[in-house]
Amino acid sequence: MGSKSFQSIATAAVHAGEPDPRIGGAVTMPIFQSATFLYEGGTDYHATRYVRLSNTPNHEVLHRKLAALEKAEAALVTSSGMAAISTTLLTVLQSGDHLLAMECPYGGTHGFITNELPRFGISHSFIDGSDPEDWRSKLQPNTRAIYVESIANPLMQVPDLVGIVKFARAHNLVSMVDNTFTSPVNFRPTEIGFDLSLHSCTKYLNGHSDLAAGAVIGRADQIEQIRLRLNHLGGMLDPHACYLLQRGIKTVALRVRQQNESALLIARFLEQHPSVDRVNYPGLESHPAHQRACDLFDGFGGMLSFELTGGLDAAERLLQRVTIPIVAVSLGGVESLIILPAATAYANVEPAERLRLGVRDGLIRLSVGIEDTNELIDDLRQALEG
Ligand SMILES: *Cc1c(COP(=O)(O)O)cnc(C)c1O
Repeated sequence: MGSKSFQSIATAAVHAGEPDPRIGGAVTMPIFQSATFLYEGGTDYHATRYVRLSNTPNHEVLHRKLAALEKAEAALVTSSGMAAISTTLLTVLQSGDHLLAMECPYGGTHGFITNELPRFGISHSFIDGSDPEDWRSKLQPNTRAIYVESIANPLMQVPDLVGIVKFARAHNLVSMVDNTFTSPVNFRPTEIGFDLSLHSCTKYLNGHSDLAAGAVIGRADQIEQIRLRLNHLGGMLDPHACYLLQRGIKTVALRVRQQNESALLIARFLEQHPSVDRVNYPGLESHPAHQRACDLFDGFGGMLSFELTGGLDAAERLLQRVTIPIVAVSLGGVESLIILPAATAYANVEPAERLRLGVRDGLIRLSVGIEDTNELIDDLRQALEG
């Protein structure tokens, strides 16, 4: 079933993992809205067919498709990105262990590492993702894993991903990367040796801002360990959401390639505009990790952030004046979304700490959708000049 392999990610997104032969002749995978399945013998609880055990036909198709997209052995879908991240960290780490984590990760991940892990006796140190000296100085005898993001909020930093993998191998750490911002279209972590790649499929993989889902992709034995934890913690994806995610994934290459192209043109437009102070986008020559992004990624993604010379007032005016981007949190959908991170994701961070992280009040984050590029640029121009 579904074992064919495909050279390009665009073809894999459509065909990889699909049932062969097709079920009942249906070209599109049906939804198996059934909580339980006929008992086929055996005594292993985790092998019985039951919806919470993530082993229904809808789960299995998605697992094969996601593994194929990143050229990995196996994958597991979850009810949200945070379910994938929390279940994975609780599988890899146990009481007494220490985690190295990239500074300023996604807000939910930051909260989980700082508020939840200590309750299980798991400690952490935050590291600068581009400074191997810093990783070495924070390594402890009980350090078990290292956690980074391929492109990090909200300044779009790209850590030294190759260095992280080497460091993890040298010190016997499990290497994990949240690959949400790059998506499998622009970066496949297992190709450079990461053990585990994590996704909020709520974002680019589904791409339509209409469901929550997560995934972890990597080596089969590790994914199976994570599945066993997920079976107990209960964060599996519902079959109907599996179906929607599978449908969304079929267009991920088309969407992300358009978003790569559009975001680069928008970043260039913003960078030369007199009302714009600075633009953070890995595709710009001015980005501190531009060369690294060129070496590692097939595209620079659809996420950028920028600051206006007029500061917070000008930023608030821009958000009121844009007519195409929708003012909302989240990212990766077909519609452009725009937000002020300091007032939303970082609202609970002390102002001094926000400044240290480079999140000024007037910083604007834009998730570029699949609308016409020129229309988006015209809209931003009228909003900047009004
Ligand atoms: C949204 C997001 C998450 C969390 O995903 P949910 O699906 O909202 O649980 C994790 N990491 C990154 C980088 C994200 O953008």
